[in-house]
Formats: sequence, C-alpha cells, structure tokens
Amino acid sequence: MGNLAGKVAVVTGGGSGIGAASARRLALEGARVVVADIDGESAARVAAELPGEAEPVAADVSTEEGVESYIRAAVDRFGRIDLHHLNAGVLGTMAPLPDVDPADFDHVIAVNLRGPFLGLRAAFRRYREQDSGGAVVLTASISSLRGADDQLPYQTSKHGVLGLVHGAAMYGAPRGIRVNAVAPGLIPTAIFAGRTDTLGRRGGTIPMRRLGTADEIAGVVAFLLGDDSSYVTGEVVSADGGAFIVNTVVR
Ligand code: NAD
Repeated sequence: MGNLAGKVAVVTGGGSGIGAASARRLALEGARVVVADIDGESAARVAAELPGEAEPVAADVSTEEGVESYIRAAVDRFGRIDLHHLNAGVLGTMAPLPDVDPADFDHVIAVNLRGPFLGLRAAFRRYREQDSGGAVVLTASISSLRGADDQLPYQTSKHGVLGLVHGAAMYGAPRGIRVNAVAPGLIPTAIFAGRTDTLGRRGGTIPMRRLGTADEIAGVVAFLLGDDSSYVTGEVVSADGGAFIVNTVVR
C-alpha cells in the first residue's frame, strides 16, 4: 500500500493519456479510483486494468449532469471522495485568430474551463457534505503560462484554469482543501491525433531535448494529491522538460 491507501479519487478524462496514467498511479498508491470520461468504453478499459478497486463512468464534464453522474458513482460505490484530478480536455481548433469559429471557441471553453469549474464546485460541495478536507489537482498546460499563435481557444481556456486554481485555493485553504495544478509541456497523447506536426515543431525547443510521458505528469499529480504536499496550495507545477524557462528566464 502506498501514500494514498484508503483514499477515494476521481480522475476526469481518465480514459486516455495523462488521465489514464494518473488513474494508474493513484491506484498503485493505494487509492480506489473513479475513472470518468465522455468515452465510456475507454473509461471501462482503463478501470478494468487498474490494480485496485475502480469504477468507470461515462460522463461529459462540461455539463452539470455529467459532473453529478461521476460524483454519484463515486459516492454510491465507495461512500466518499477525497481526491479529484480534473483533467479532461480538448485541444480544439488550431486556426489562426481571424479564422477561429466561435462554436469551436465555445466548445473548448466548455470542456476545458466550464468543466473544471463545475468539477471544483462539485468537489467543494462534496467536501462540505462530508465535513472533510480534500485535495484537487487541475490539469493546466504550458499554454496557461505563455502565448502561441495558433491555439487561441485552448490557450484562453488554460489561462482561465489558473484563475480557478487561485480562487478555489483561497477559498479552500482555511477549510482544509488544497487546490493545485500541473502544467504539462508536450506529451504525445491522443490529443495530438492528426497533429503530430505540432509536436515536431514545438518539441525542438525543449531544453531536455525530448517530449514528456504521461507517467511523468502522473507523478506530479500523485505528489500534489498526497500528504507530501500538505503545505502546498494555489501552486502551478510545470512538468515540461524546462520548456517554460526558454520563454521566461533565458532569452
Ligand atoms: P487525451 O486526448 O489522451 O485525453 C483527454 C481525455 O479527455 C480523453 O479520454 C477524452 O475522451 C476526454 N474528454 C474530452 N472531452 C471530454 C468531456 N467533455 N468530458 C469528459 N471527458 C472528456 O489527451 P491528454 O493529453 O491526456 O489530455 C489530458 C489533459 O492534459 C487535457 O486537459 C489537456 O489539455 C492537458 N494537457 C495535455 C498536454 C499534452 O501535451 N498532451 C499538454 C498540456 C496539457
């Protein structure tokens, strides 16, 4: 049993990539895990392969019903929730600004920003009902911290995620609820399906000279959800092979 023995964790977007790696890592640390994803088959596949008890849920995080359904599934199966990794996300259009379709913008904001807002609200309500503390990690992005010329909706949504982290951390701190974010750099997952050129183009500038892995992000998530980070809240931890430094300190 690891650091998270006895805890119940929810991972959204848990059917693929970073979320699937996070679900595995949290399970290896001893947590019972609810794997929520809009793709119910992927969620079921990941949940079936976890080492501990797990519950898959088909849920759209951008809707109140979707969020309620994964909360209900966790409480029905495990009786409580201790940890949330609000991770589901989409990349959306890569069109330059003059060509961005407002419908694409709205979709990206709905999944990447409304989703974590609804997830945070539900987490805080659950902790209040349980009269407990808790921990939440949001998946931000290197795009939360710097500009790009071809992903305006995504970048806007991920900048917004930092607003959620800071506001929720302030509200949560006196209530024993910690809220942090991990900001991954470039991780080859299904989010780049059909867009491997993006990985190639941006990958060349990474100081560590390689892309990251989903497991390397999951390690940060486990740290931020576990007691080793008990005095850490409102923090954004970059896990990007040094990519953020390139555009900040080193010019
Ligand atoms: P992925 O495509 O492998 O996983 C995303 C998962 O989210 C998928 O399983 C998908 O079905 C699910 N999802 C999409 N819309 C949903 C919705 N409305 N409701 C519920 N689930 C939904 O991609 P990933 O790279 O693992 O992305 C996970 C998170 O990491 C995202 O928030 C993404 O923005 C972020 N991120 C990824 C990278 C990267 O380089 N891969 C970098 C920075 C941040």
